[in-house]
Amino acid sequence: KSVIMKPINIASIPADGIGPEVISVGIEVVQAVCARNSDIDLNFTHFDWGSDYYKRHGEMMPADGLDTLKTFDAIYFGAVGAPDVPDHVTLWGLRLPICQGFDQYANVRPTKIIAGIDSPLRNAGPGDLDWVIVRENSEGEYSGHGGRAHRGMPEEVGTEVAIFTRVGVTRIMRYAFRLAQTRPRKFLTVVTKSNAQRHGMVMWDEIAAEVATEFPDVAWDKMLVDAMTVRMTLQPDTLDTIVATNLHADILSDLAGALAGSIGIAPTANIDPEGRFPSMFEPIHGSAFDITGKGIANPVATFWTGVQMLDHLGLTNEASRLFTAIEQVCADGILTPDVGGTKTTRQVTDAVLDAIRQLN
Ligand code: ATP
Ligand code: MG
Repeated sequence: KSVIMKPINIASIPADGIGPEVISVGIEVVQAVCARNSDIDLNFTHFDWGSDYYKRHGEMMPADGLDTLKTFDAIYFGAVGAPDVPDHVTLWGLRLPICQGFDQYANVRPTKIIAGIDSPLRNAGPGDLDWVIVRENSEGEYSGHGGRAHRGMPEEVGTEVAIFTRVGVTRIMRYAFRLAQTRPRKFLTVVTKSNAQRHGMVMWDEIAAEVATEFPDVAWDKMLVDAMTVRMTLQPDTLDTIVATNLHADILSDLAGALAGSIGIAPTANIDPEGRFPSMFEPIHGSAFDITGKGIANPVATFWTGVQMLDHLGLTNEASRLFTAIEQVCADGILTPDVGGTKTTRQVTDAVLDAIRQLN
């Protein structure tokens, strides 16, 4: 009766610091939640790329690394960054080439207050903060355009040019409206700074209004980024789906992560919405060398990004079971020290595996 699904192949790149500690247990829980359905054939292939690889080979990944990854259905990524390798090497050597090479132009960051994890917001609990931030991930303020003239001289000038294209803004806006449409509230907030920045930001506002006509069932509003930080802090329940530029969403999602309780729980997905290339799923946090090897890294961000990955692969029942398991374990107070608990990575993982077995 059952139709065997074609194998799903996932590339895992744990990379640096706590990356391997959280990705290894992330794979355990993703596999466990798929175990009930024997039609699902999920395979992980490991790549030892990252800072140690760099120390041996002089590069963070092989020159044909993207060709190798291209054949996979998704990438499960840990973290990059090491104390003894320059930041520009770790950043530009692995993660960014994947994002850019695979045109993962939508960076998607769900944030939610989970029962059991305290928000620094007074009186805020589960239900008061449930957002998805969509970050434009391919252009804007981080386009690398600009330069410096008269370096070191009194008359020195530095420019940092943000590039916004009609194609780039339209596609991220469509993605955000479509995502808002799938959520119960069907509500999108478009963030810009179009009062002070009169070119690209005004274009964002115009394109938002154009794309909005394609989604008559989605309500939307506009916010200036400065006012947005206030609204996120004081009226979190008035927001749902949020779209912003590369820079603005970078800042807003750090704020969002802090308001939800910890950097150790925040997940992120780098999506190629057209499905031409594999998308990449990773915790927002970095390599955290201060806690590497201690066995206390919070695995929840990596589990949650596993939820995003399963969703993206069309395994929506598995995704929602995994999220439920995470919520149960947090609500039971089985937490790592960064969120006020006393448990280890292993103990939190075992609790999530137990919860999955109950749900399966
Ligand atoms: P990078 O340079 O790659 O950003 P980082 O060492 O600055 O990495 P971050 O991930 O940015 O580390 O996090 C800052 C601090 O937050 C870490 O030093 C660590 O103490 C804590 N932290 C981050 N992730 C986790 C986690 N998953 N579990 C527990 N604590 C974490
Ligand atoms: Mg950092």
